[in-house]
Amino acid sequence: MKVRNKKCRICRKEFIPKYSTMQATCENIECMLAYSSKQKEKKTKAEFKAMKERNKSVSQWRKELQQVFNQYIRLRDRGKGCISCGRPLVGKTDAGHYYSCGSYPNLRFHEDNVHGQCVLCNQHKHGNLLEYAIGIEKRIGKKRLEELKSLRNDRLSLPLDEIKEKIYYYKDKVAQMKKV
Ligand SMILES: [Zn+2]
Ligand SMILES: [Zn+2]
Repeated sequence: MKVRNKKCRICRKEFIPKYSTMQATCENIECMLAYSSKQKEKKTKAEFKAMKERNKSVSQWRKELQQVFNQYIRLRDRGKGCISCGRPLVGKTDAGHYYSCGSYPNLRFHEDNVHGQCVLCNQHKHGNLLEYAIGIEKRIGKKRLEELKSLRNDRLSLPLDEIKEKIYYYKDKVAQMKKV
């Protein structure tokens, strides 16, 4: 078998692998040392990241979910009007809840309960709920709105596994939608 020349990862010179096809550097001792300390640094960084993940509190995970979920809602509703006033959503867009997170925490991550909303309606008109009621029925239909309503007083149950699953799910969705 013909051994192919490789490029040293450190000095960029070509070399013929002697020890294994995985050999990353030439035989210059300085290249070997530099490469090995680089690898160590990489490993330490990865370990540090893993440690940080392990020590993340539930509320930090929840926050991460909130971020990616909102991002998904904005992408899903791009091109549509504000759920309340109908004005085109340009620039900063909020993900506005119909049933508020404060009173109905179990609907915080329900897709039918959250829609793209302009900042004026969401922040300055406290959700502009009278108009939201009209907009949401048009958007999702009577039947889904009734379903949402029936869920509103369910107990909140979102264990950490499910939070992590949802983060994974929405990250994937966001990545797909960004491609379009
Ligand atoms: Zn080298
Ligand atoms: Zn609006």
